[in-house]
Amino acid sequence: MSSIVDMTSADTHCPYCALQCAMTLRTGAAGAVTVAGRDFPTNRGGLCQKGWTAADLLTHPDRLTTPLVRAAGRLRPAGWDEALDRIVTAVGDLQQRYGRDAVGVFGGGGLTNEKAYALGRFARVALRTRTIDYNGRFCMSSAAAAGLRAFGLDRGLPFPVADIAAADTVLLVGANPAETMPPFVRHLADRRLIVVDPRVSATARLAALHLQPTPGTDLVLANGLLHVAIGEGLVDADYVAARTTGYDEVRRVVAQWWPARVERLTGVPVADLYATVRQLADADRAVVLTARGAEQHSTGTDTVSAFVNLALALGLPGRPGSGYGCLTGQGNGQGGREHGQKADQLPGYRRIDDPAARAHVAAVWGVHPDDLPGPGPSAYELLSSLGTPSGARGLLVFGSNPVVSAPRAATVTDRLCALDLLVVADLVRSETAELADVVLPTAQWAEEDGTMTNLEGRVIRRRRLRPPPGSVRTDLAVLAELSGRLGAPTSADPRVVFDELRRASAGGPADYAGISYERIDAEGGVFWPCPTPEHPGTPRMFLDRFATPDGRARFVPVDHRAPGELPDDEYPLYLTTGRQLTQYQSGAQTRRIAALPGGPYVELHTELADRLGIADGEPVEISTRRGTAVAPARLSTTIRPDTVFMPFHYAGPGRANTLTGDALDPTSRMPEFKLAAARLTRVRPR
Ligand code: SF4
Repeated sequence: MSSIVDMTSADTHCPYCALQCAMTLRTGAAGAVTVAGRDFPTNRGGLCQKGWTAADLLTHPDRLTTPLVRAAGRLRPAGWDEALDRIVTAVGDLQQRYGRDAVGVFGGGGLTNEKAYALGRFARVALRTRTIDYNGRFCMSSAAAAGLRAFGLDRGLPFPVADIAAADTVLLVGANPAETMPPFVRHLADRRLIVVDPRVSATARLAALHLQPTPGTDLVLANGLLHVAIGEGLVDADYVAARTTGYDEVRRVVAQWWPARVERLTGVPVADLYATVRQLADADRAVVLTARGAEQHSTGTDTVSAFVNLALALGLPGRPGSGYGCLTGQGNGQGGREHGQKADQLPGYRRIDDPAARAHVAAVWGVHPDDLPGPGPSAYELLSSLGTPSGARGLLVFGSNPVVSAPRAATVTDRLCALDLLVVADLVRSETAELADVVLPTAQWAEEDGTMTNLEGRVIRRRRLRPPPGSVRTDLAVLAELSGRLGAPTSADPRVVFDELRRASAGGPADYAGISYERIDAEGGVFWPCPTPEHPGTPRMFLDRFATPDGRARFVPVDHRAPGELPDDEYPLYLTTGRQLTQYQSGAQTRRIAALPGGPYVELHTELADRLGIADGEPVEISTRRGTAVAPARLSTTIRPDTVFMPFHYAGPGRANTLTGDALDPTSRMPEFKLAAARLTRVRPR
């Protein structure tokens, strides 16, 4: 695979989701940038609406072109020196008064590998703060935690997407790629597809079998499926004996989940449990995939573990053409979690509390290991403690818009407002930027070089078509400027940063040491781990051994726990949140693109609408114990009558995260985005 970059065109990848569809950008005669899909194993030339329109933001009038600083309550334009000096002075003042951890950093799963790495280094070396986490905590952290404890290593898909396209049976749990990453659906064509989703989603409509469990019961469903597999004699006993540990304890736990009991709790018919297991077990190649629907719960890690247990019992992980994987969501959801912007990790996917890891990374950074801070608070705990005696007093936000995307968003907004210093680096005045003391305008994807790691663990190149406009700088340049002013100089050159990242990752679980820009260009991407320049990379993992000390995968016994809250007399409905086709994450970018229609809504079943006297399109008030949102009703027959759905991309009265709660998964610290107890009422004319 060759790549092209010249003055007028660049082969790169989409700025949005983890599929990282390949595209070619071209500059036309009038300077307008056009986008064309490019053939690549993940997208086979396809793009969704978001990808096709991605260039529209390059010249959008909302684009920030100069720093802004707050004066007399308003944001006004400023020069870079004024903006950066103000940040550095405030950081110094806050850290002197309240300690190092009083200044924190909040990153994003869309940042390039270089930026994610530079951000972690900036926090640990320039600020010497333990207060750093990122919005990926809200995305795939439960699957990452479950993958780590089962396989000893977390790579979303431990095999290429081509393996999914060749599988006989695909079980998709809480994933809706037909809406979130449409080109991925090409890989599901002609597969025997089983979808687990409480809604008849666009993906569920493609399925041969759709299981529609009661929200919050996915774990019971998985345990029930394993119970059936055991009862039907479909467990791969040789595989379990040779490649795993812990099966007996899991067998004991799932013994209590006999099919009729599972049907009672989940609503999934017994016959469908048997059909699902049979279709997985009979396949030569079968794949089990989870996504946010299973993961964004206070029981998310255990729920993923339950599906991993099922996959292990059927002998799938590490078998060529089969396996378990997680469909990562954000653009660099995979790489973003490997390079040190996570509260508990150092580059190379190393644990920050591991003395050997600290010594290795400290040597690369030229500091003493004892000077590296320890683990910090997780994303929601970081955000919800801002401005309190136990939390940070200053925060620098890169590539994230927590006013819209964080759970219990009104509380998070209040906490952001309570800060002594809020700095936001972004392309536009996002809702979080509107609250900031300093806003720094940063380059867009077509204006910068770097690498991303797609949902398969394939490291790919982001290539610059043209420089950023006006005085806009790249995030790396901003971090280099700030680091230099804080006495810890770093490079703004992505190649230099990537080379340092390679050294920092060497020997770690996510080893990039053998990957270079030149290799990526020549090979069209390189799968990690890749420890040396001669190493071919690792498209398929776990074929011979898992990354555990004994080389065996670990069954993890998990059992049903109630979610943070359940419907009751006062709040009788399940609320679940998710994405829609035309929008990406907090919508700060896609909501501004005229060609991407959208808007908040509350989806409800016609039966429920009749009961409440609600007409299609009528504004409705939806309340939970956290607050109230207002959005038009969208009537359908494809959702359970006891469940309502809202997309989470919107701010203002239709902000879904006003409603979500702060129950956290005890292992991953994932908030419960997918389940809240809610009440729906008409907004009566005044
Ligand atoms: Fe592809 Fe995702 Fe971009 Fe759509 S948003 S074009 S699916 S990478």
